[in-house]
Amino acid sequence: MSKVWDLIIVGAGPIGCKVGELLGKDYDVLIIDRKKEIGKPVQCSGFNSERIFELSGVSKKVILNKVIKSDFFSPSGTKITLKSKIPFYVFDRELFDKEIAKKTEKNNVEIRMKTDFKSLEKRKEYLEIKTNHGKIKSKLLVGADGPGSTVSRVTELPQPDNLLIGYQKTIKYSYNPTSSELWFGDKVCPGFFAWVVPENDEWARVAVATYREPVKYFDKFVKKRIGKNYKSKDDVSGLIRFGLIKKSVDDRILLVGDAASQVKPFSGGGLIYGLMSARIAAEACDKSLNEGRYDYEFLKENYGDEWKKMLRWPILKGLGIRRFFDNCPDWILNLGFGLGKHLTPIFEGLIDEDLL
Ligand SMILES: Cc1cc2nc3c(=O)[nH]c(=O)nc-3n(C[C@H](O)[C@H](O)[C@H](O)COP(=O)(O)OP(=O)(O)OC[C@H]3O[C@@H](n4cnc5c(N)ncnc54)[C@H](O)[C@@H]3O)c2cc1C
Repeated sequence: MSKVWDLIIVGAGPIGCKVGELLGKDYDVLIIDRKKEIGKPVQCSGFNSERIFELSGVSKKVILNKVIKSDFFSPSGTKITLKSKIPFYVFDRELFDKEIAKKTEKNNVEIRMKTDFKSLEKRKEYLEIKTNHGKIKSKLLVGADGPGSTVSRVTELPQPDNLLIGYQKTIKYSYNPTSSELWFGDKVCPGFFAWVVPENDEWARVAVATYREPVKYFDKFVKKRIGKNYKSKDDVSGLIRFGLIKKSVDDRILLVGDAASQVKPFSGGGLIYGLMSARIAAEACDKSLNEGRYDYEFLKENYGDEWKKMLRWPILKGLGIRRFFDNCPDWILNLGFGLGKHLTPIFEGLIDEDLL
């Protein structure tokens, strides 16, 4: 009989690799990914607080810039500047992913690229997993295959419907390297916001996320913020799925990271929640393999319920804020910003954007 792996992880993104890294020393772990190369193409602004380094274990060598405040712009252009509670970092996301993957391989995990997960069949003692390179067997399967997760689809663990399309270019201009920018308004970026994250004083990641026509809104925003003619590098586009998933486990199966929509609904950031959940997923898999319990109830109690204990409220709170901004007409936002400008000193240093 061919080998039965203890754990197969679909997706060699940072979250799948983190789960693998935590289990590789004690179990037979295989990660498969459909891409050719880890970290490419980048689908991220690479912008998080320093918590990202504690959670990921990635070295600060990947940092490009430190940001200490955010400028919030109303639809009519009123600016409110808020100092962050903790510093934020702009980092090289490709190097970030590669560093986690390297650590994962060091912990005896095999990573097979160009291997596309197609479907699975449940057998009594294991799962039979179909890929473009044939069938492989595993006791457990972790779906860490991102916002368009195939694992979620074929296992009937449906992801939430809220889906934004992000579009970003790194643009040469003149920036304040210590400030990020968030631009709101129905004409700027309906349903979300446009953002500017500086790599230094002359290059910044400029992006929008919308439910439709992201390129149209991106071009419009860049024309307003920077101008018609500009030099750019690194086109990025990707999906942002958010909301509270109903079920993230089934017999022998767990979803983690973007695949489980462990994403902040207000900002669209997925790395912090995903890495927090990766630890819980790894502990649950460890327990499951140790005790030989692979059933839905066991995985729900040890993973599904556990990560929701930690993130249910932050996700619901973020959804509430997101819905408010989605439904708020520009004139109310303008009024709110006008009022907020006078209250800025009260919030100074209190806002923890990382938790939004
Ligand atoms: C424009 C944009 C900007 C963003 N900026 C930020 C930010 O600044 N900060 C932040 O925290 N988050 C940000 N995010 C979100 C962040 O990129 C994700 O939350 C993060 O990448 C999730 O990691 P993951 O490992 O769960 O999934 P992913 O990084 O998406 O990795 C999933 C992996 O699964 C693989 N895969 C998919 N399907 C299959 C299959 N069938 N078979 C095999 N392999 C498969 C993919 O190739 C991929 O490598 C941004 C997203 C976008 C779109």
